[in-house]
Amino acid sequence: MDALGIDGVGVSFDGVPAVDGVTLGVAPGEVLGILGPSGSGKSTLLRAVAGLERLGSGSVSWHGDDITALAVHRRGFALMFQDGQLFPHRTVAQNIAYPLRITRASGQAERVVDLLDLVGLPGFGERRVTELSGGEQQRVALARSLAGKPRLLLLDEPLSSLDRELRERLAGDLRRILVATGTTAVFVTHDQDEAFAVSDRVAVMMRGRLEQVGTPAEVWRRPVNAAVARFLGYTT
Ligand code: ADP
Ligand code: MG
Repeated sequence: MDALGIDGVGVSFDGVPAVDGVTLGVAPGEVLGILGPSGSGKSTLLRAVAGLERLGSGSVSWHGDDITALAVHRRGFALMFQDGQLFPHRTVAQNIAYPLRITRASGQAERVVDLLDLVGLPGFGERRVTELSGGEQQRVALARSLAGKPRLLLLDEPLSSLDRELRERLAGDLRRILVATGTTAVFVTHDQDEAFAVSDRVAVMMRGRLEQVGTPAEVWRRPVNAAVARFLGYTT
């Protein structure tokens, strides 16, 4: 059975559909990429899964249980955005431990050390966030997102504020980290290289609708229609 179920989800703003009847499942431990041009409804769909949008239609489920009406903080999901939204004047360790403090977990210091190793920033605990590069800040944000062992990680363009070369390196690292931790994740991006590098399967969205779902190879080799082909850069 799928971990996450998205069933006929629709979200409209002032009567205009932003997400239009999307049905999609994410298997346990799977990294699903949502790929599409700007304005295609990717963020709105992710926010709907998180519980941050009122659904006009459809439902969201977790291992078969309908969670459409469940409050955001009770879903056990973590969200990470383009800008990691760290506390700038706190240390790296304080930022990463923030979700742990809320749950009063023991063994916090050890957990922070493990998380810093995991994201490739060993020994960075006492640094200030403002001293870090953009890429390092996103690694810290990822460590913080994983700190509470979320049952689902939702990532909205987490690499989009970084330059191309750094983005490629981080995309590879992100995939390795998600796989190593067995994290079930939905990864939103407008960048096909990034989507293909990070995801087990890619869902292509255009104008609020789901056009195609498949492995990176399937989507790349056999775009389902002319619109997807054009978006992927085929000059037909
Ligand atoms: P993407 O993340 O793929 O760029 P979005 O989900 O942000 O797309 O937006 C999809 C559509 O919904 C766009 O036309 C956008 O302008 C509209 N939209 C998104 N959020 C809101 C909002 N809070 N109020 C009104 N319109 C919105
Ligand atoms: Mg977006």
